[in-house]
Amino acid sequence: MIDISGLNKWYGAFHALRDIQLTVNKGEKIVLCGPSGSGKSTLIRCINALEDFQSGQLTVDRIELRNVKNIAAIRSEVGMVFQQFNLFPHLSVLDNLTLAPMRVRKMNKTAATELAMGYLERVRIHDQAQKFPGQLSGGQQQRVAIARALCMQPKIMLFDEPTSALDPEMVNEVLETMIDLAGGGMTMLCVTHEMAFARKIANRVIFMDKGEIVEQGPPDSFFDSPETPRLQTFLTQIL
Ligand code: ATP
Ligand code: MG
Repeated sequence: MIDISGLNKWYGAFHALRDIQLTVNKGEKIVLCGPSGSGKSTLIRCINALEDFQSGQLTVDRIELRNVKNIAAIRSEVGMVFQQFNLFPHLSVLDNLTLAPMRVRKMNKTAATELAMGYLERVRIHDQAQKFPGQLSGGQQQRVAIARALCMQPKIMLFDEPTSALDPEMVNEVLETMIDLAGGGMTMLCVTHEMAFARKIANRVIFMDKGEIVEQGPPDSFFDSPETPRLQTFLTQIL
């Protein structure tokens, strides 16, 4: 689904991603972790063509990211959920969800509404469809953001610390939505430090530090017998 090789990115003189190799297969769930500034957001933003890069190859569902036309094609395959929910505050929940399917996919309003209500039900929030984002809790807003991404029927979902802006009591409702999505077979790449979540759903956990992938493995070996001193230190800090 995602194939990255020899990817390097600089912000000016700062080398933000160093020779990244990463393959994500269909249906795989990957958790990406690492210290602040290690390049996690930069990497997933590259996958969604929100950032460019200077060398290497990046393909998503066999579409190579290299020109403007491909950027649009890749974005339509990839759903993204951010730390800040980025909902349109002036639109109702339902209108937030139907906007892109109608504008980009040219769906008619009835079909888009039906699709949106289906996903709102899936994230258990369909009773809030007529509210505005500001009238919802953080956890509810993030579930709306997930439903909105799903409305574009992506093949891959990228999450960048989706629970780190939430009050603690709302973290679980969002994680449960993500666990449900994982159970449905979605290909997922999640930046998160929710390690219980990682143990539960990840096929593979990847540790980044200073722009590099330093270590990766299935959750059990990753957490219980980390090999590199850098990961060992990181785990003692977060667990
Ligand atoms: P966090 O856990 O804090 O979200 P991260 O692993 O997601 O960190 P990135 O946001 O990918 O880290 O940033 C990686 C490095 O690139 C950081 O040192 C950051 O300062 C730098 N960086 C990120 N965006 C830019 C930018 N637009 N211009 C210049 N430097 C940037
Ligand atoms: Mg980040």
